[in-house]
Amino acid sequence: MHVQQHTLTRQSVLYSEKIAEDVFILGFQKNFDFEPGQVVGISVEENGPRRLYSICSGKEEDHIAILYNVVDEGYLTPRLSSLFAGDSIWVTEPRGDFLYDPGPSFWIASGTGIAPFYSMLKSGNFDRKILLHGERHLEKFYFYDEFYDTLGHNYIRCCSGEEDPAVFHGRVTGYLRSLPSLPLHYKYYLCGRAEMVVETRDILIERDIPFNHIISEIYF
Ligand SMILES: Cc1cc2nc3c(=O)[nH]c(=O)nc-3n(C[C@H](O)[C@H](O)[C@H](O)COP(=O)(O)OP(=O)(O)OC[C@H]3O[C@@H](n4cnc5c(N)ncnc54)[C@H](O)[C@@H]3O)c2cc1C
Repeated sequence: MHVQQHTLTRQSVLYSEKIAEDVFILGFQKNFDFEPGQVVGISVEENGPRRLYSICSGKEEDHIAILYNVVDEGYLTPRLSSLFAGDSIWVTEPRGDFLYDPGPSFWIASGTGIAPFYSMLKSGNFDRKILLHGERHLEKFYFYDEFYDTLGHNYIRCCSGEEDPAVFHGRVTGYLRSLPSLPLHYKYYLCGRAEMVVETRDILIERDIPFNHIISEIYF
């Protein structure tokens, strides 16, 4: 989504780290409070094109981070990936209603869609959560140690492109289909690419999960 009508403030980049092929974490100054799960609009020029990114840092941390894929033919992400500490970016206030729910929930992410769940985890909000993370390559299970230390066997990695005995071989949708039943009283939070979100939603509806228990954030 290309954001058009929000006030931006200039912030200094604190760090830019490449954490996997074409995947970066960008940290910048914090001048607002936010709720884990919210997004910010970012631009590299004061009046330039903006894109939305989930906040990927904890509520109490002293900076804001985002996690993004470089889209080679894209406008913003190649520019973001060439930033260094001290460079400026323009950032909107946080917004969005993909927010933490204290009840039992499945968190289902593909790719960088893990970001809002990492923000929730880093903010101390992870009680009664089961996390499914889908990636094509094993190296892209960013934050593995932290999720595993906190969620243990409730952190399930689904890798479609490579095999590993500790990882489900296939997509998150394949994992969900392999379960004999899904708890009806759980909430289902879906975040990432449209194909994953739509296919997962269809599985949940087939399994009689109430509509108001399906909450999604599509990265388009
Ligand atoms: C609510 C919301 C939250 C988001 N949060 C994140 C986030 O946390 N991390 C993140 O990485 N992205 C996130 N996105 C996507 C992000 O806003 C941009 O769309 C993305 O980073 C591409 O921006 P760009 O300017 O580089 O490419 P654009 O100039 O927007 O796109 C260029 C071309 O690439 C295509 N394209 C766009 N995205 C992809 C892609 N992922 N893979 C392949 N082709 C693509 C477009 O269709 C277009 O043809 C989010 C989107 C939304 C709506």
